[in-house]
Amino acid sequence: MNTKRPELLVVGSVAIDWIITPKAVREESVGGSATYFAMAASFFAPIRLVGVVGEDFPASTVQDLKSSGVDLEGLETITGGKTFRWKGRYHDNMNDRTTLETHLNVFEHFQPKLPERYRSSEYLFLGNIQPTLQRGVYEQMQRPRLIGMDTMNLWIDIARDELVNVLGNVDVLTINDEEARQLSGEDNLVKAARAILELGPRNLVIKRGEYGALLFDSDGDIFAAPALPLEEVVDPTGAGDSFAGGFMGYLAGQGVEPSGSVLRTAMICGSVMASFCVEGFSYDRLREIAIDDVQERFDRFAKLTDFTRASLA
Ligand code: AMP
Repeated sequence: MNTKRPELLVVGSVAIDWIITPKAVREESVGGSATYFAMAASFFAPIRLVGVVGEDFPASTVQDLKSSGVDLEGLETITGGKTFRWKGRYHDNMNDRTTLETHLNVFEHFQPKLPERYRSSEYLFLGNIQPTLQRGVYEQMQRPRLIGMDTMNLWIDIARDELVNVLGNVDVLTINDEEARQLSGEDNLVKAARAILELGPRNLVIKRGEYGALLFDSDGDIFAAPALPLEEVVDPTGAGDSFAGGFMGYLAGQGVEPSGSVLRTAMICGSVMASFCVEGFSYDRLREIAIDDVQERFDRFAKLTDFTRASLA
């Protein structure tokens, strides 16, 4: 019997962030879409990472990723190069943020090249990077069973055509509410979702920060997952990527086609991982927790959303 667990490949940014919240500042906070995704998804499935860093990238993070079982053969280190850097400031509500600086650095000339053994990965997540690079990765794959994808306002602004081109091949697009409005030109999220699904992705997840996330699936159904009500949010950076990691990780771990009910459970796994992420800076909390903590929080979500269907007539 073949007991090999399906592998989940992620490509995305690996970054050093400078985070300013109303209460605290952290310079040199390791981030990036692929970093958060991999740390979150590693609880559910074997992860392979494709990305690029410079010589300034901390060896301790490489060690943390490896300790979480993340395969880093696809992480390139550019000699003499500087890691991608992003600086952002959160507003008082901790939901909205302003990008203050973006320095592409080693990302500017990045051409992802997949190690041969990565090409047969069954699950693929195209994390937030330039859409042409996302397509470059997708084209090197043999035939993934399921492709997820994320993006951000910057690429919707400056690389819309390339982005829409990749969307046609995607099983699940995960974006936030502002990006959904920007991509569709619709203010109303239900209308926005309908317009985005017409661009090609089979399913759509719209992340809404502290308001949770909505799934618009290929059957035309909508599912709403809450975010865990938390007394204190330390740093929301990476919540969306951690959500995607929990979501895709669960699907890969199950090794099944994404039917309605499996996607719904995956939505809760995404919410669970996002809730841990925001409790600390960087991926600090994702490194601290164990699978029992993940299970315990999953059960809290079950309680949070449990109600009896009443007949009111
Ligand atoms: P999230 O909070 O889930 O949207 O992800 C935040 C992460 O996205 C940060 O750690 C940043 O390093 C990363 N990031 C910000 N801007 C970009 C960009 N233009 N391309 C790729 N990654 C980015």
